[in-house]
Amino acid sequence: MQIAAPGAPLELVRRRRPEPGPGELLVRVRACGVCRTDLHVADGELEATRYPIVPGHQIVGVVESRGPAVDLAVGTRVGIPWLGGTCGTCRYCTRDRENLCDEAIFTGCTRDGGFADYAVADARYCFPLPEDAEDVALAPLLCAGLIGHRCLRMTGDAERLGLYGFGAAAHIVSQVARYEGRRVFAFTRPGDVAAQRFALECGAEWAGDSSAPAPEPLDAAILFAPVGALVPVALRAVDKGGVVVCGGIHMSDIPTFPYRILWEERVVRSVANLTRRDAEEFLALAPRVPIRTRTLPIPLERAGEALDRLRRGELSGAAVLVTD
Ligand SMILES: [Zn+2]
Ligand SMILES: [Zn+2]
Repeated sequence: MQIAAPGAPLELVRRRRPEPGPGELLVRVRACGVCRTDLHVADGELEATRYPIVPGHQIVGVVESRGPAVDLAVGTRVGIPWLGGTCGTCRYCTRDRENLCDEAIFTGCTRDGGFADYAVADARYCFPLPEDAEDVALAPLLCAGLIGHRCLRMTGDAERLGLYGFGAAAHIVSQVARYEGRRVFAFTRPGDVAAQRFALECGAEWAGDSSAPAPEPLDAAILFAPVGALVPVALRAVDKGGVVVCGGIHMSDIPTFPYRILWEERVVRSVANLTRRDAEEFLALAPRVPIRTRTLPIPLERAGEALDRLRRGELSGAAVLVTD
C-alpha cells in the first residue's frame, strides 16, 4: 500500500519482492501498527518524506532472507521501528543521541515501511521479539510504546502525570506509569466519553475533557494530541518545576501565551524519534509490567480506512494492519 504523492490516497500496487543488500534483512511482514505519523506522511506534513512511499514503522515480521554480514537467523521474529538507520559518525551519533542524527533513515518515511507483504531493513536497527506474544499485540509497542516510553522518561520522577490525547501511545504509557507508582490523569477531546472510559480501564485515576481544568496540579504532562493549543493548556495544569513533553512529530501552531505560565521553572520540550537503547530498554520492560495492548486488526488492503478512522479519532487503542 503506497502513497504516490503528498495528499494522495493509499493505493494497492504490485511490486517485485525487494532483495536485501549487505547488512540488510528481508522480512515477511505479519503485522504493522498504524501511527499518527503515518497520517502526517500521507498528508505531506513531514518535509523529508520520499514519494512514492510505503508507510508503516511498527513492523512485526519474520526474517525471510538476509544479505551478507547479518547475524540474525532466517525465521527469527523481529520488530522494525521508526529509526531505520543512522550515520554513526555525526556529533549526535557519537554523543549517545542517535535519535537526532543528521542522516537518519526513517522507516515508512525515507525508506519503504511495513504497509506491505515484505520489507527490507538494516539488521542493526531490528529487534528480536519475545516468542510468547502475538504479532498483533506486539506491533503497537514499536512506536506508540517506544516513543511513549521516551516521553515518559523525559518527565523524570513526576508523580502526577497528565496525558493529553488518549490513543495508542497513552494507553501504553499509562500502564507503565501505573507500574512505576505514578498517578495518571487523562485528558481527551471534550465529550469523548469512549476515550475517557478507555483511559480509566488503562489505569488512569481520572479522565475528563481537555477543556476543563485538571482536578489537581500535575508534575508533568505529555501531549500526544497534535494540537498546539494544548501546550498552554498543559502549562497551566503543571505545578512549579513541571515539564510539558510534546510527543508528536507534527503539531498545529502553538498560540502565544503569557510568560507567567512558563515562569517558576516550568519546561516545554519535544521528543524526537528514538535510540536503539530506548528500544532495548522498553522491550525488556514491557513483559514485566506486563503491557496489554488493545488492538484493532485490519486487513492490509484496508489501510486507507485505518488511516481515515485514526484521522477522525474513532479508534480506541491501536489499529494494526495484518497480512494473510
Ligand atoms: Zn549520525
Ligand atoms: Zn509512530
